[in-house]
Amino acid sequence: MNTDVLVVGAGPTGLTLGIDLARRGVDALVVERGEGLTPGSRGKGLQPRTQEVFDDLGVIDALRAAGGPYPVGMIWRDGEPQGEHRMMDADEDTDEDSPYLLPLMVPQWRTQEVLYARLTELGGKVAFGHELVGLEQDADGVTARFANGSSVRARYLVAADGGRSAVRRAVGIGMTGETVDPNPVLVADVRITGLGRAYWHIFPPRGEDAGYLAICPLAGRDEFQLVAQFPDGTEVDTGLEGVRRVAAERTHIAPADITTLSWSSEFRPRAALADRFRAGRVLLAGDAAHVHSPAGGQGLNTSVQDAYNLGWKLGAVLRDGAAADLLDTYEEERRPIAAHVLGLSTAIHRAEARRGRATRQLGLGYPDSSLTEETRTDPAGAVRAGDRAPDAECDTGRLFDAFRGPHWTLLALDTEAPAPGEGVRLVHASTPKPYGKGLLLIRPDGYVGWAGDCAAGLDAYLTRVGLSRPLGREIP
Ligand SMILES: Cc1cc2nc3c(=O)[nH]c(=O)nc-3n(C[C@H](O)[C@H](O)[C@H](O)COP(=O)(O)OP(=O)(O)OC[C@H]3O[C@@H](n4cnc5c(N)ncnc54)[C@H](O)[C@@H]3O)c2cc1C
Repeated sequence: MNTDVLVVGAGPTGLTLGIDLARRGVDALVVERGEGLTPGSRGKGLQPRTQEVFDDLGVIDALRAAGGPYPVGMIWRDGEPQGEHRMMDADEDTDEDSPYLLPLMVPQWRTQEVLYARLTELGGKVAFGHELVGLEQDADGVTARFANGSSVRARYLVAADGGRSAVRRAVGIGMTGETVDPNPVLVADVRITGLGRAYWHIFPPRGEDAGYLAICPLAGRDEFQLVAQFPDGTEVDTGLEGVRRVAAERTHIAPADITTLSWSSEFRPRAALADRFRAGRVLLAGDAAHVHSPAGGQGLNTSVQDAYNLGWKLGAVLRDGAAADLLDTYEEERRPIAAHVLGLSTAIHRAEARRGRATRQLGLGYPDSSLTEETRTDPAGAVRAGDRAPDAECDTGRLFDAFRGPHWTLLALDTEAPAPGEGVRLVHASTPKPYGKGLLLIRPDGYVGWAGDCAAGLDAYLTRVGLSRPLGREIP
């Protein structure tokens, strides 16, 4: 074997997984077909749940320094501002059990730079210039072949190679979906002189055959992200002249005021879900497993959380001796979430749902997972097994400070607890809201895995997830 885990693609999914594996001491290699990270502002909204993940992975301060809040919208017509338009619900409408209540805007290329810096700080590597062109797998591992003639043998391979995933095709996993909108959309990162940065400028369609145009100032940067929709069948010019032309046709911005174009792309919003997330030793994550309409800003966020779900499970199997079928819970947990979020993105695209509380992803959890065990007799009204473990202030400090890191956490809330074994941090505290009394075992990805009135059944659960020195036993 050249490595234990080969991660194909250094987008947000591959870099997040690389970081999580590196901090667990799992031998992993990220390969990327480009000679550097991919450019473009693309997925620029980091939802609150993703900010929690990035807090745990040690990158939130750098991302907050690199980005900023979303501006309010301003509707324009005939060169005149018509009034403000709130694109998202305000923070008073959100959960209050997180330090992160609103989306943070960071251009995707910048998020990737921050993640890459963290990966290398942890000793992780990206091999650029490696385009996967084929793979074979057997009982022991996967051999990946690259366009440059090299190959890598790994115990597991994770496809983080985006919506057109070569890995997904190579293992024959289908993707089922629909075109959410047949009208092509141009996205461009531009500099514009004379346009204010306090608003997300919105230019509604004028006439039947025109599309909308919107220009969002990119936080932490002197560029704007320009998005323009065209009628079906239009040949979209993604060059600087094309961007100038559409802006001049639909706004009061003069062509010469658009001074630079650093990146542009054209796409048709699609919603699609891979039929399976696993084929033997190959696992699909991020856009390789699900492709969303950008409406509602869910694609990158769902992708990052796939990686966060998978990282600790690969670590448990490869380092801690958990049974390999723990990896089956990755598809079991993430595919229904992806299906649910796809429904939300499509509904927002079609103006059937708002960019509200659900888009923050704080309410998602795994209540029906086979990894979820709620054994308390009366947990009513409190955080339950399967729920995201929210932040709270305890007499011993903030819970998120205790959760931060690759370990599990055993919360003993007004309850006696056995001495924890290796890999589990014990927090003995009086019950904070919204938690109830009892023992709660928090997974490394911040969900309640097991909950009980006492420790009966906890040993068996820990053994299943690879904590082979269960609670209260001497370490040999
Ligand atoms: C125009 C546009 C606008 C978007 N807007 C939003 C938004 O507002 N909010 C949001 O949340 N999401 C948005 N998205 C989606 C978001 O960008 C994706 O969900 C996100 O990039 C997924 O991350 P990923 O790492 O899974 O895949 P990608 O970012 O696609 O990364 C895949 C990586 O794999 C590499 N790769 C591909 N094939 C191979 C191969 N054969 N071998 C080796 N490497 C390979 C690629 O070069 C790339 O670096 C947008 C996407 C686009 C295109």
